Parts: sequence; structure tokens; C-alpha cells
Amino acid sequence: MDWLSKDKEFIWHPFTQQKAAAEPIFIEKGEGSWLFDSSGKRYLDAISSWWVNLHGHGHPYIAKKIYEQALKLEHIIFAGFTHQPAIDLAVRLIPKLPGKFSKVFYSDNGSTSTEVALKMALQFWWNQDYKKRRKILAFKDAYHGDTFGAMSVSDRSVFTLAFHDLLFDVIFVETPTPENIEDLKGLIEQEGENIAAFIYEPLVQGAGGMKMYAANLLDEMLAAAKEKEIVCIADEVMTGFGRTGKLFASEHLHENPDIICLSKGLTGGVMALGVTACTEKIYQAYYNDDKRKTFFHGHSFTANPLACTAALASLDLLEDGALTAVEQLCHWNAVYLEKLKDAKNGSRAILRNLRQLGTILAFEINTGEDGYLNTIGQEITKIAMSEEIYLRPLGNTVYIMPPYCITAEEFTQLSEAIERIIQKI
Ligand SMILES: *Cc1c(COP(=O)(O)O)cnc(C)c1O
Repeated sequence: MDWLSKDKEFIWHPFTQQKAAAEPIFIEKGEGSWLFDSSGKRYLDAISSWWVNLHGHGHPYIAKKIYEQALKLEHIIFAGFTHQPAIDLAVRLIPKLPGKFSKVFYSDNGSTSTEVALKMALQFWWNQDYKKRRKILAFKDAYHGDTFGAMSVSDRSVFTLAFHDLLFDVIFVETPTPENIEDLKGLIEQEGENIAAFIYEPLVQGAGGMKMYAANLLDEMLAAAKEKEIVCIADEVMTGFGRTGKLFASEHLHENPDIICLSKGLTGGVMALGVTACTEKIYQAYYNDDKRKTFFHGHSFTANPLACTAALASLDLLEDGALTAVEQLCHWNAVYLEKLKDAKNGSRAILRNLRQLGTILAFEINTGEDGYLNTIGQEITKIAMSEEIYLRPLGNTVYIMPPYCITAEEFTQLSEAIERIIQKI
């Protein structure tokens, strides 16, 4: 059977202009850091399969736990019912979260986790004597997902172009710099009483191009926002579970969020699950005899037992050595960053903005216009694959974000291949 022609005939792939698209690669199997295609070639998964995978592919421990749970209870409606994996996960997750959280609200992906957070914050105000704070504060270059609310608080870009007239109004500001921080605090001071919530990707804006910004300046903004009782929403869908070197990026900060959004690495990247956790203050605004103050939100697969089980297994692995692997990976990254910086001073003027936070390392290629539509990325993917590496640059932004199981030898292979790729372009 010619499976690729069947794919072309029946499937519409995400973020893909089907007309110009290269044939998708048929992956048959994944093991550890490696993906194996149907022609027997292998690729090192240097972007953790869209930033989700933590412990490697086909992890036998996670697989076994899911199998055992599937035989016991695969799914159950989560209104009026509960189950062990959902309870265990909430009990184990809450003490690990950055701040004093009180409740976990489950959904099934990253976009729903931010969608839930936005609705939770807006209704938090609506529920209190109908004080209708309605504005949201967000960053330029932000990405919070692809559903309508999540799109509204994401940067206006080619991703959202067809919907701009339908997205709700948001106050977009630049990420903080020493130059603009006073203006940002001034704006919060001035507009604060109309702002319901401030949503941010702490320290790294992922889809916006792995843009990094300073913790102390975000802290200043958060302190100003808290002064005005603005609900602070940390979107840690990408940064959660070790990516930035700490379990959560918010741990690099002094100010804690009121709401935190988690997905991607939550299940080790194995099952679809979203978590939106909130503080007692948020929860109490809903806890009421007035039925209209209920949070009327849920999904068919809310708190799916198999997904919760995968998340519990991933937590086991994080507690049992994976966080040490994170530390090691951060160190390798830091050493490699210095090496790239040295090369840059020599013949490699082609690289710009070399940067790293924890397990994430990124730089821009000096060619054409910056941005997602720069086609150098596709070229790099092609060259990388001939080097047994899977990279998926965001336009001209090249980054690596490997799974934590990557070995020293594999990391060397990855970093040497990147140097060859840079030479080839
Ligand atoms: C990926 C991502 C999302 C959306 O998650 P999906 O599961 O793809 O819907 C939201 N926020 C951030 C920061 C992300 O990186």
C-alpha cells in the first residue's frame, strides 16, 4: 500500500500549506531520543516532538502504566464522578506549583488550558458584585494557542490574520527591557482598574521565536499588576516541567502567578492533557449559592484517566532522576553556547542573538527577513535530516529543545551536526 498517497488523499495537516508541502515523513517507531522512518532512516528528535516529549519516545514505564490503567478504567465523565489518577495527580501537582495554589481544573490540551484561564479570570471579576473588569494585558509576540480566546491574546500575526476582526481587544505591550520597564509599570498603574488579567509566557516566548527576556523585569511588572489586583496568568504550557532548568519557569521569579496553565510536558508528552490551576482567592469567587456563578466549562475528555496516569508516571520519572538529567542538559547547552559564541567571532557572522535558558538554546540566522515566513527554516530542516537530526526552525530562528533522556554522545552528535548545517547554508 502506498500510504503517503493515502495521506495526501485524506489528511489535512496542521500549520501546513498543503499545496506547497513536501511529502510528510512516515515515522514508524520512536525510541529514546530517536525517530525511525519507514525507509529505515533515523532522526534525533532535537525539538522533543513540538516541545512535548520529556523522557524519550516509547518509554516502557509510561506505556506500562497506561496499559494497566486502560484495563481498569479508560474514561469516565468528570462531572459527578471522580477517579484515582485525577485525584493523585492533583494531590502531587499542587505542592510542586510555583506559589500557593488551591485547585486544579482539568482539560485536554494547551489551548484549552489558556482558554480556561482567561474565562476563569474574566468570570472571577463578573462573579464579584458584577465588577466587570474586561481588559486583558498580553505581550507582543505571545502565543497562547489556536482557539478563539487563546488566539485573541496571542500576537496578531500570519497565524491569526484571517480572524483579526473577530478577536477581542487586548492591550499588547512589548516584553520588558531596562528601557521600557517604567512605561510598562506606568501603564499598569494607569489602566490597572480596568484590567482583568495579565497573561504571559514566563521568560521564553516559544512560538513567537524562542524570545527570552529578563526575570527581574517581569517580576517588576508582576508586582505592579498585583498592586492593582490584576489576575496574573502564567502560561507554562511550554516552559513547565524542567524546560528552563527549573521545574517551572516561574521559579526563576519572586512573584507567583494566580493561575498557571500546563500541558505539553505534563504527561511526558505521551497523552493529551491540560491543567489550569488557581489560587483559593479565584476559587472562592465561584463558590456560591448563586448558580449563575458556576464555572460552566468542561470537555468530553476532561481529566481522562489514561492521560492523568501518563502524567503521574512522568512525575515518577522526574522525581527519579530526570531532573538530574535536566541539570546535565542545561550544562551541555551552556558549554555549547560558549562554543558557538566563539565561532561567531570568527568566521560565523551568520549567527545572531545566541541565547539559552535551561534546556533551550536558540539563535537567528542572518538571512532575509526575520519571522515565521522566512524559508531558510525549511532548508535547514532538509539539511538536518540528511545529518540524522530533526530540527524545525521558526522561520530563521533555529533552536534545540531535546528530550531529557538525550545522552552525552547524542548531544555531541547533535551539536556537531548543527555546526555542519550552519556551514552548509
Ligand atoms: C503550545 C502552546 C500552547 C498551545 O498548546 P496546544 O496543546 O498546542 O493547544 C499554548 N501556550 C504555549 C506557551 C504554547 O507553547
